[in-house]
Amino acid sequence: MNTQLTEDTLFLSTQAENIWHLNTALLGKVAIELNEIAADSIVFLSPGNPLPESALRHVRAVICTHDNLNIETLSAQTEIPIIVVSEKTIFSQGDVITISERGRIHRLFRASSRNNALLVTEVCNNLCVMCPQPPKPESEINHGDNEQRILKTLALIDDKHFPETLCITGGEPTMLNEGLLNIIEAISDRNQQTLIHLLTNGRYLSQESYTARLAQKGHHQLLAGIPLFGHVSEIHDYVVQCEGAFNQTMAGLLNCYRYGIDIELRVVLNKITVKYLSALAEFISRNLFFVKHIALMGMENMGYAKLNREAVFIDPWEYKDMLSDTIEIFQLYGIDVRVFNLPLCIVNEDTQTYCKQSISDFKNSWSPVCNSCVKRDACCGFFSSSTDKFWLSNHISPFVTNPEKKHLSFGG
Ligand code: SF4
Repeated sequence: MNTQLTEDTLFLSTQAENIWHLNTALLGKVAIELNEIAADSIVFLSPGNPLPESALRHVRAVICTHDNLNIETLSAQTEIPIIVVSEKTIFSQGDVITISERGRIHRLFRASSRNNALLVTEVCNNLCVMCPQPPKPESEINHGDNEQRILKTLALIDDKHFPETLCITGGEPTMLNEGLLNIIEAISDRNQQTLIHLLTNGRYLSQESYTARLAQKGHHQLLAGIPLFGHVSEIHDYVVQCEGAFNQTMAGLLNCYRYGIDIELRVVLNKITVKYLSALAEFISRNLFFVKHIALMGMENMGYAKLNREAVFIDPWEYKDMLSDTIEIFQLYGIDVRVFNLPLCIVNEDTQTYCKQSISDFKNSWSPVCNSCVKRDACCGFFSSSTDKFWLSNHISPFVTNPEKKHLSFGG
């Protein structure tokens, strides 16, 4: 499947084409407007925009695109680091980035986005069969360094860009232990109105005293996104590849309820979980009635989901009736339910109103057939990982005003 992806991505990771005077790694805030340049800014210089010498004295580094004719002059004029990137690289005023000694650039915060996520660790204590971002070994990660990087990032975000919602993700964020509490506290200190969306497997939240402290640091602005993959331990523990995980996650969910942390219960829809979906819906409705909402989530075809495709992949078209029945169960019990990551054309009509535009802008893509679809503005589209080889569905077809023209088939 051909998909089109926006170039301006949050998780920008690009290699500089050339570097001058860069002797040490940098972490800093991008300035583009001359009047926004402050001490320690990393200035992103557009080609026709000269930098006055007075401003140059204070900045930490200058990034310019390779079509900038002033690069040679600039490098002779100053000892500050100059980093040359492709003209496709886009930065916004207020972005927070790191530049390694070798010129690798990572964007940690994108000022112009509403979907900012802080990746606090790449280590996890689960090993889910469909994990889109398989964890790294614990030995490769220094949690103290991660914590400091996140705290510095938070400190660099301008007040005017400080987001209404900030996602904390991993790996498993609770593996930072005290470090996570410090990060939550730092966000709350900056803005007590910011909703902190913590994506966690919930196992460590079975530690009652930890969850109590987490709730206290979060000042009731904490929404824990916790996955549950089955109504019995055998299913959940198999999906997360960890014995005992179900019991810990359940204890974590109850502790969240006890200490007033809102819960978004996440069910990833795959070949294993959809088989028992209505049983899971009954279990949740009877035992976890306190959750704020349920997110039924289409799977992202990356990482282990690609590797284990045979075992976990199912075309969402095949479970659309099961999805309708499951939503009906939650409706009967008065539980708020949303459907994430599933395009409108592959769910039943009664499911469409529950579908959300859930795919973050930095990893959202579309099929060419979507151009003619009248529901495109309400649809979530695809993860950019959907490709000809790792397609999502054989049943993508645009909605058109004339129903006769519907069901142009493609994909596969
Ligand atoms: S064809 Fe329409 S409904 Fe289907 S994925 Fe594209 S925009 Fe969404």
